Amino acid sequence: MDYDVIVIGAGVMGSATAWQLARARHKTLLLEQFDFAHTRGSSHGESRIFRFAYRDVVYARLAMQARPLWHALEAEAGEQLLIPTGGLDIADDAEGFPEVEEVAAALEAVGAEHERLDHAGLRRRFPQWHLAEGARGVYSPDAGVLRATRCVQVMIARAIAAGAAAREREPVLSIRPLDGGVEVVTAAGRYRARKAVVTAGAWVNTLLAGLGARLPVQVTQEQVAYYPARPGQAAAFAPGPFTVWIHYRRDHTYGFPILGTPGMKIGLHHANRPIDIARYTATPIPAITDFLNDYIGRYLPDLQPHGFEPTACLYTSTPDHNFLLGSLPGAPDILVASPCSGHGFKFGAAIGRALADLATEGATEIGVSGFGLPNVMR
Ligand SMILES: Cc1cc2nc3c(=O)[nH]c(=O)nc-3n(C[C@H](O)[C@H](O)[C@H](O)COP(=O)(O)OP(=O)(O)OC[C@H]3O[C@@H](n4cnc5c(N)ncnc54)[C@H](O)[C@@H]3O)c2cc1C
Repeated sequence: MDYDVIVIGAGVMGSATAWQLARARHKTLLLEQFDFAHTRGSSHGESRIFRFAYRDVVYARLAMQARPLWHALEAEAGEQLLIPTGGLDIADDAEGFPEVEEVAAALEAVGAEHERLDHAGLRRRFPQWHLAEGARGVYSPDAGVLRATRCVQVMIARAIAAGAAAREREPVLSIRPLDGGVEVVTAAGRYRARKAVVTAGAWVNTLLAGLGARLPVQVTQEQVAYYPARPGQAAAFAPGPFTVWIHYRRDHTYGFPILGTPGMKIGLHHANRPIDIARYTATPIPAITDFLNDYIGRYLPDLQPHGFEPTACLYTSTPDHNFLLGSLPGAPDILVASPCSGHGFKFGAAIGRALADLATEGATEIGVSGFGLPNVMR
């Protein structure tokens, strides 16, 4: 065998897996079809929300397992990658109230520090927000911002520093199970390994088609944009006075304090614009920009209501937004992970550890046992 493990796809999931495998001294090959840290998938950009605040304790606990691993990466790299900002989960209509209650209950259940805020409390602590009467929220100090592209770059660099082979612009064309291993064919060569880990993001079904498999996922185009503060208001949107946030309403929105880019980043969660990955152009969608402009005008009037730098990105989503992770039925040496649905990045360091453990020891202490891989064979 040329390698112990071949990892296919160097987004946050694949680069985290390669980093964990290499630092455990496993002979690792990481293959990426585009340039490393490219902007055509799901892991690019200056920021991703990190939070314990989930309605489901499984994800709250998984985020708790991920944080020390992100800190371990920071220590190895000598660089801050997770910026603490605090987080706010808010609702101001009947649609969102139950979700905020579930978030508070889950934080309580996992013993995470948090604070419930009524409308008066929200106005006092976060006057930037203009919410409807009766609004409520949950403040959680453990939330922060992961520097997305930088995390991916650092994990690839740390994997290489620990001995991994890493190849960009080398698309995997096929994977073939062998007796006691796998063969991976690329445009540049053939490689054999004990295991293959498929972390191919939106291209997962393109790759699995050759194995007669298909995951129940849909790829959608999502979009964010940046909104500058009105004159004299920028300080109010800096980390500290302002937090990462999620607004539970019919159309969930989320956002960040102003960091590098001189505007507050905001996105519409699950804009539901299905795409065919083979035809994806990453062209921003004007209707989403219009929605975000209106949202800012209504809820955060101290920001300019016209955004700049609309940026496309991809979600690969399951119907219930839960993660898929496991060995391919009938091909135990091929592990497949699709931990996205628009909320996977924060868990990347932990998912990487789990996949590395499963590929080399067949078991892991990371809380992924609830994520299976339903019978995907066609
Ligand atoms: C706009 C937006 C905002 C988000 N906000 C958050 C957030 O705030 N917090 C959070 O936790 N999550 C968030 N997410 C979700 C998170 O970013 C994703 O879940 C995560 O990045 C998925 O990573 P991945 O490695 O699975 O996919 P990707 O990053 O897409 O990586 C897959 C890689 O596989 C490569 N590949 C595919 N096929 C092949 C092949 N045949 N050969 C070689 N390489 C191949 C691709 O080129 C790609 O680089 C957001 C996502 C988007 C789009």
